Amino acid sequence: MYDACIIGGGASGLTAAIALKKSGGDPSVIILEKKHEPARKLLATGNGKCNLSNENCPGYRETLSFFQTLGLLTREDEAGRFYPYTEDASDVVEALLRRNKSEGVEVRCDAHVSAVTHDAGGFHVTYGTKSSLHTIDCRKLLIAGGGKAGPAFGTTGDSYKLAESLGHSVTRLAPALTAVETYDDMKAFAGIRAKARVILKYKGEEVFEEAGEVQFTKYGISGICVFDLSRFLILPEGKNLKGGFDDYEILVDFFPKGGDIENFLRQRAHMKDLAGENILDSLVRQPIGRAIYEKSGGDVKAMAELLRGWPLRPKGLKGWDFAQITRGGVPLAQVDEETMESKIVKGLYFAGEVLDYDGPCGGFNLQNAWETGIRAGRGMSR
Ligand SMILES: Cc1cc2nc3c(=O)[nH]c(=O)nc-3n(C[C@H](O)[C@H](O)[C@H](O)COP(=O)(O)OP(=O)(O)OC[C@H]3O[C@@H](n4cnc5c(N)ncnc54)[C@H](O)[C@@H]3O)c2cc1C
Repeated sequence: MYDACIIGGGASGLTAAIALKKSGGDPSVIILEKKHEPARKLLATGNGKCNLSNENCPGYRETLSFFQTLGLLTREDEAGRFYPYTEDASDVVEALLRRNKSEGVEVRCDAHVSAVTHDAGGFHVTYGTKSSLHTIDCRKLLIAGGGKAGPAFGTTGDSYKLAESLGHSVTRLAPALTAVETYDDMKAFAGIRAKARVILKYKGEEVFEEAGEVQFTKYGISGICVFDLSRFLILPEGKNLKGGFDDYEILVDFFPKGGDIENFLRQRAHMKDLAGENILDSLVRQPIGRAIYEKSGGDVKAMAELLRGWPLRPKGLKGWDFAQITRGGVPLAQVDEETMESKIVKGLYFAGEVLDYDGPCGGFNLQNAWETGIRAGRGMSR
């Protein structure tokens, strides 16, 4: 009988184990991790640099001091994003694993949890393969198995099934922080990157906008500002993927800092070598310039409008393999947010992406994992 069992050796699970051990009483703690090694996803975060928090997260100071206690030096970039000082995600993983080891946490890998039951004697956790199943018993159980995004890292949505099997509900799940596929034929623009602003409209109303680098691909658009936009591209209730996003429109503004573009184009129209279809040269990359020129029919006012809002029709989102996070999960209303304990099953806790939280790019999602992990660890110690 373990005092605590943690399902998932990722960001939130490893953090929770440390917080629980630090709270005293020397509890016996085991982490069951499905993959051959823990924290595989963490190694891939922030393009291998691990953007671990952001100064715009209300709880970022606690995260920084948590990592300070692990001996991990961090640095902040000009946009307020925090990284390990070496900008090497493996240093974050090492720091977490080192402390888990020195605290005596048992980390068991290749341990795929497939079922959990609960009775007066505590929780009974079944893991392993069909031919070799094992069960361990524990007094407290933390589900920290992540979401559905990036299944190659072990996150295939098991946490939601386990939560449901214990009486919790799960809100609608969707891939988020992902690229957008468009109906528009984008092949001519594939490979182009533009400093621009993306605007999302739903039924004509603006619901999101962000400036950044837009990457054009053969299927649509990508880039951090597009990832952030994807969190707001929500399939309306009752609609399916086919045609489900038809009430949305994306506009790409190639002059996010504004200015009188129309007047500027009129002046260029008087320059002999820029008149006609060359008028947009050096303002946008040539394939985009050609497309805008054609669409405008050579009309300067129409061209100026298209430069400030080139319309694209979203068809769908790049799926789980591409997405960084999951939208939806176990409703926060079903947990005590101070201790992360379930309001439905005593002794059951949740941390990380399994919860119905999704944040923008920039360290917000890892911040959520550390923060809920720390609270769950402390909560389990009570
Ligand atoms: C490519 C990529 C880059 C990212 N970059 C950033 C970034 O720079 N900054 C940021 O804030 N966020 C980033 N994210 C998001 C962030 O990684 C996640 O939100 C965060 O890791 C979630 O933490 P977690 O503890 O809930 O789950 P995870 O860290 O995903 O860990 C869950 C663990 O549970 C294990 N598991 C799953 N099911 C079972 C089971 N049945 N039995 C046993 N173990 C199981 C998994 O193998 C996994 O190791 C990125 C995501 C991806 C995919």
